[in-house]
Amino acid sequence: MSGVTRRQHEIYKAEIRSGVAWSGAYILPAHAQAALDALVKTAWWRRRTKVRHIELRWKPGNVFCYGHQDTEDEARGFITVNAASLAPGVLFHEAAHVLTYDEAEDHGPRWMRAYVGIVERRFGAWASELLQEAFEEAGLW
Ligand SMILES: [Zn+2]
Repeated sequence: MSGVTRRQHEIYKAEIRSGVAWSGAYILPAHAQAALDALVKTAWWRRRTKVRHIELRWKPGNVFCYGHQDTEDEARGFITVNAASLAPGVLFHEAAHVLTYDEAEDHGPRWMRAYVGIVERRFGAWASELLQEAFEEAGLW
Protein backbone atom coordinates (compact mmCIF):
# COMPACT_ATOMS: atom_id res chain seq x y z
CA MET A 1 0.00 0.00 0.00
CA SER A 2 1.32 3.42 -0.93
CA GLY A 3 2.15 6.03 1.68
CA VAL A 4 -0.39 8.43 3.12
CA THR A 5 -0.73 11.59 1.00
CA ARG A 6 -0.77 15.06 2.54
CA ARG A 7 -4.50 15.37 1.77
CA GLN A 8 -5.22 12.01 3.47
CA HIS A 9 -3.22 13.18 6.46
CA GLU A 10 -5.32 16.39 6.71
CA ILE A 11 -8.56 14.44 6.25
CA TYR A 12 -7.66 12.02 9.06
CA LYS A 13 -6.70 14.87 11.40
CA ALA A 14 -9.97 16.72 10.67
CA GLU A 15 -11.95 13.55 11.40
CA ILE A 16 -10.22 13.13 14.74
CA ARG A 17 -10.62 16.85 15.59
CA SER A 18 -14.37 16.58 14.90
CA GLY A 19 -14.64 13.58 17.21
CA VAL A 20 -16.32 11.53 14.49
CA ALA A 21 -13.41 9.16 13.81
CA TRP A 22 -13.11 7.88 17.36
CA SER A 23 -16.73 7.97 18.44
CA GLY A 24 -17.15 4.58 20.04
CA ALA A 25 -16.44 1.07 18.84
CA TYR A 26 -18.27 -2.05 17.79
CA ILE A 27 -17.76 -5.00 20.11
CA LEU A 28 -17.83 -7.59 17.35
CA PRO A 29 -17.32 -7.50 13.57
CA ALA A 30 -20.93 -8.76 13.30
CA HIS A 31 -22.12 -5.52 14.91
CA ALA A 32 -20.24 -3.49 12.31
CA GLN A 33 -21.69 -5.69 9.55
CA ALA A 34 -25.20 -5.04 10.93
CA ALA A 35 -24.53 -1.28 10.79
CA LEU A 36 -23.51 -1.60 7.12
CA ASP A 37 -26.60 -3.73 6.38
CA ALA A 38 -28.76 -0.98 7.89
CA LEU A 39 -26.97 1.75 5.93
CA VAL A 40 -27.43 0.12 2.51
CA LYS A 41 -31.16 -0.30 3.21
CA THR A 42 -31.73 3.44 3.60
CA ALA A 43 -33.45 5.34 0.79
CA TRP A 44 -30.65 7.92 0.97
CA TRP A 45 -28.04 5.25 0.14
CA ARG A 46 -30.16 3.56 -2.55
CA ARG A 47 -30.66 6.83 -4.41
CA ARG A 48 -26.90 7.26 -4.72
CA THR A 49 -25.49 3.87 -5.69
CA LYS A 50 -26.33 0.42 -7.01
CA VAL A 51 -24.42 -1.21 -4.13
CA ARG A 52 -26.91 -3.28 -2.11
CA HIS A 53 -24.52 -5.24 0.09
CA ILE A 54 -21.21 -4.28 1.68
CA GLU A 55 -19.14 -7.18 2.96
CA LEU A 56 -17.04 -6.32 5.98
CA ARG A 57 -13.61 -7.93 6.02
CA TRP A 58 -12.14 -7.67 9.46
CA LYS A 59 -8.43 -8.33 9.70
CA PRO A 60 -6.26 -8.46 12.79
CA GLY A 61 -3.00 -6.56 12.78
CA ASN A 62 -1.99 -3.27 11.23
CA VAL A 63 -3.91 -3.66 7.95
CA PHE A 64 -4.71 -0.54 5.94
CA CYS A 65 -8.47 0.23 6.03
CA TYR A 66 -10.19 0.69 2.69
CA GLY A 67 -13.56 0.50 1.00
CA HIS A 68 -14.51 -0.04 -2.64
CA GLN A 69 -17.24 -1.12 -5.00
CA ASP A 70 -16.78 -4.54 -6.64
CA THR A 71 -15.50 -3.90 -10.19
CA GLU A 72 -17.28 -7.04 -11.48
CA ASP A 73 -20.58 -6.75 -9.57
CA GLU A 74 -21.82 -3.20 -9.03
CA ALA A 75 -24.31 -4.39 -6.40
CA ARG A 76 -21.48 -5.37 -4.04
CA GLY A 77 -19.00 -3.43 -2.01
CA PHE A 78 -16.20 -4.37 0.34
CA ILE A 79 -14.78 -2.71 3.42
CA THR A 80 -11.60 -3.93 5.06
CA VAL A 81 -10.88 -2.74 8.58
CA ASN A 82 -8.21 -3.69 11.09
CA ALA A 83 -8.58 -4.63 14.72
CA ALA A 84 -8.01 -1.09 16.01
CA SER A 85 -10.54 0.48 13.63
CA LEU A 86 -13.80 -1.34 14.31
CA ALA A 87 -15.60 1.96 14.92
CA PRO A 88 -18.59 3.69 13.33
CA GLY A 89 -16.59 6.70 12.13
CA VAL A 90 -14.06 4.49 10.32
CA LEU A 91 -16.83 2.36 8.85
CA PHE A 92 -18.70 5.42 7.53
CA HIS A 93 -15.44 6.87 6.13
CA GLU A 94 -14.95 3.63 4.17
CA ALA A 95 -18.64 3.42 3.18
CA ALA A 96 -18.20 6.85 1.57
CA HIS A 97 -15.38 5.33 -0.51
CA VAL A 98 -17.76 2.54 -1.61
CA LEU A 99 -20.28 5.24 -2.60
CA THR A 100 -17.75 7.32 -4.57
CA TYR A 101 -15.45 4.59 -5.85
CA ASP A 102 -15.42 6.12 -9.35
CA GLU A 103 -14.25 9.54 -8.10
CA ALA A 104 -10.84 10.30 -9.57
CA GLU A 105 -9.53 12.31 -6.63
CA ASP A 106 -8.80 10.37 -3.44
CA HIS A 107 -10.87 11.92 -0.61
CA GLY A 108 -12.21 14.52 -3.04
CA PRO A 109 -15.33 16.71 -2.73
CA ARG A 110 -17.76 13.91 -3.69
CA TRP A 111 -16.26 11.63 -1.07
CA MET A 112 -16.42 14.42 1.54
CA ARG A 113 -20.11 15.10 0.81
CA ALA A 114 -20.87 11.37 0.93
CA TYR A 115 -19.08 10.98 4.26
CA VAL A 116 -20.82 14.04 5.77
CA GLY A 117 -24.16 12.68 4.48
CA ILE A 118 -23.65 9.24 6.03
CA VAL A 119 -22.52 10.76 9.33
CA GLU A 120 -25.57 13.04 9.37
CA ARG A 121 -27.91 10.10 8.85
CA ARG A 122 -26.27 7.62 11.21
CA PHE A 123 -24.97 9.98 13.99
CA GLY A 124 -27.06 13.14 13.55
CA ALA A 125 -26.76 16.73 12.38
CA TRP A 126 -24.50 17.70 15.30
CA ALA A 127 -21.82 15.23 14.16
CA SER A 128 -22.00 16.17 10.49
CA GLU A 129 -21.69 19.86 11.45
CA LEU A 130 -18.56 19.13 13.50
CA LEU A 131 -17.09 17.15 10.62
CA GLN A 132 -17.86 19.90 8.09
CA GLU A 133 -16.34 22.52 10.40
CA ALA A 134 -13.17 20.44 10.80
CA PHE A 135 -12.90 20.03 7.00
CA GLU A 136 -13.40 23.80 6.58
CA GLU A 137 -10.82 24.69 9.22
CA ALA A 138 -8.30 22.46 7.44
CA GLY A 139 -9.12 24.10 4.10
CA LEU A 140 -10.23 20.81 2.59
CA TRP A 141 -13.49 21.87 0.86
ZN1 LIG B 1 -10.15 7.15 3.04
